[in-house]
Amino acid sequence: MNFPQNRAFEWVSQNLQPFVLGVLVLLATARFLYVLWPKWRILRQVPGEDRFKYPLKRLGHTFRIAFLQAKMFKEAKAGWMHALIFWGFLIFLLRAAWFFFIGFFPAVELDGGGLETLYFFFKDSFIVLVTLAAIYALYRRTVERPERLTLSLEGIVILVLILAIMMSDALFDAGWQARNPQASMSGAWLGSLIAPMLSVFEVTAIIHLHNMAYWMHVICTLYFMTLLPGSKHFHIVTSIPNVFFSNGFEGGNQLHRIDFENEELENYGVSKIEEFSWKKLLDLHTCTECGRCDVACPALASGKPLSPKQLTVDLRDHLNNETPHLLDNDPQRSDGPLLLGGIINDETIWSCTTCGACEEECPVMIEYVNKVVDLRRGLVLMENRYPAEFANAFKSLETQSNPWGFGSNTRADWAQGLDIKTWDKNNPTEYLYFVGCNGSFDDRGKKIATAVVHSLKSAGVAFSILGNDEGCTGDPARRAGNEYLFDMLASKNAELFKEKSVMKIVTHCPHCFNSLKNEYAEFGVELDVIHHSELLERLAPHGGGEAKTTDRVVYHDSCYLGRHNEIYDAPRDVATRKTEPGKTSEVEASRERGACCGAGGGRFLLEEKTGTRMSHQRVDQLMESNPDTIAVSCPFCVLMLEDALKAKNLHDKVRVKDISELANEP
Ligand code: SF4
Ligand code: SF4
Repeated sequence: MNFPQNRAFEWVSQNLQPFVLGVLVLLATARFLYVLWPKWRILRQVPGEDRFKYPLKRLGHTFRIAFLQAKMFKEAKAGWMHALIFWGFLIFLLRAAWFFFIGFFPAVELDGGGLETLYFFFKDSFIVLVTLAAIYALYRRTVERPERLTLSLEGIVILVLILAIMMSDALFDAGWQARNPQASMSGAWLGSLIAPMLSVFEVTAIIHLHNMAYWMHVICTLYFMTLLPGSKHFHIVTSIPNVFFSNGFEGGNQLHRIDFENEELENYGVSKIEEFSWKKLLDLHTCTECGRCDVACPALASGKPLSPKQLTVDLRDHLNNETPHLLDNDPQRSDGPLLLGGIINDETIWSCTTCGACEEECPVMIEYVNKVVDLRRGLVLMENRYPAEFANAFKSLETQSNPWGFGSNTRADWAQGLDIKTWDKNNPTEYLYFVGCNGSFDDRGKKIATAVVHSLKSAGVAFSILGNDEGCTGDPARRAGNEYLFDMLASKNAELFKEKSVMKIVTHCPHCFNSLKNEYAEFGVELDVIHHSELLERLAPHGGGEAKTTDRVVYHDSCYLGRHNEIYDAPRDVATRKTEPGKTSEVEASRERGACCGAGGGRFLLEEKTGTRMSHQRVDQLMESNPDTIAVSCPFCVLMLEDALKAKNLHDKVRVKDISELANEP
């Protein structure tokens, strides 16, 4: 394509034009770096974290989440709006480079041949699509005003800049074509469409319009750039790296062991903002304040003082305020508000169930569970401050290896009369059945453990138990921030597994499952851990000829089996084998979007004093499917949902059953 770029700018001397452009670019770049540089230095200064494992998986994940905008489409309209603007942004990056190039080198003629034609076709198509998307975004922010969004003047300014860039781009091409009707601009169909409308103007006016479009384009682009690092629109820069470095390539919450032996380590957990790792601070810079996390959060919905979005915004603002002091090593910073109990209330931190619903929804992969646990570690280990109920639980875990204080020498009493072997190192069975504290001590839990035993036996699984040697995995201590206690309990169990040559474990508790599967490798044991739902799905005979019940069944996903370990189908399969076709249902909040029962994150130990109960909320959602049976694969969910049904006087109408109980039914 033959663009005589030089002649388009006669009104500015060819020497002056690059100079003016150069000054503008320098000013904008200086401003951009001035705001960006301290943020970058802080990221380099804070604790490290290895987020480089699985590079190929990370690339694939980044392509899906960032470039294809996979998570955005959970909401169709907003998803398309954002995706079009994002894809347009990628296309217009090249266009911006082209604009600056012709500005600096007006005498050079570019000819990209066929590729250029293709590019111009896409570029013009995206001018239309991005303009429509930006107009819709403006309408949304000014008229619809969705509650979850943070609305700000800056958001409007950014959209107006996008519209100005689109408009000036089309006008630039149209001006050129109006002035040179014989010149070929194949591909640039929008410019060709507008050009005839400009021919009503005199040539001088067209030249001015063309030049004005050029300068409008570069000035808006440069101004847009300067706004990014100091605002929530910084996510335009950080979101792709944030997705690349995100969690999710191994199961669980990716909580890591603290090296308590290291005498140089002065602080445990996070009680100051600079104690977060670089990735957790990058998260803070990446939040778009879209509020999708808030919509999913069961704690917020039940009236707890926890808005995940606000938590991120508060941490980010605190980080920005502290940054100059941190870079100067300023002792005065201690006069500012404390992070724990000041910037973030204790109750906010304790309200989280670590369910991960916010993370599932976040389109830029911001992590919450590990930050909340970091803050809890700070509260427990550094400030010795935690809810009163945890004091007894910590003591019981330490002395009896269960959170309720039952004698550890009675741990295996539930198994009496069930003819279960105790693990024998010299004559091991294929699986160790890890029962967990709930199955060992809680009356309802014991019934579930018994049902698990029967179902494993019917499926022909060879298993034995540790008996009174079993101890708590430490999961409640870790989620409650008492990493020291978790370390103690996990080390003890890991030693026992090594000593007894345990390699394959089956468990029915998703919390034990998650901990043993994802967190024990750091304690020197590589375990092959399976949830009983997967084992039953694989081994138990499918009930083709069995009698079917007419019960309507709805399955409730446990957060630690589902979202944190992506096991969704196996428990459904086991739970509904004996159900007549058409009698199973799914509620909207299921699978990845399943809602927490309120027990996670150690919250089963706490009184729910603020707001309504999360378990009541969950029962309300499940009751929308009018079930006779709520099928569950977590003993803690069973307790929470049964209590909620009792409180709502629904317990005579609806029953809650573990999947193994359903598998054993005639
Ligand atoms: S993990 Fe669950 S409870 Fe915690 S902030 Fe996220 S959605 Fe809310
Ligand atoms: S954390 Fe994620 S989901 Fe929540 S407001 Fe920020 S970008 Fe949106």
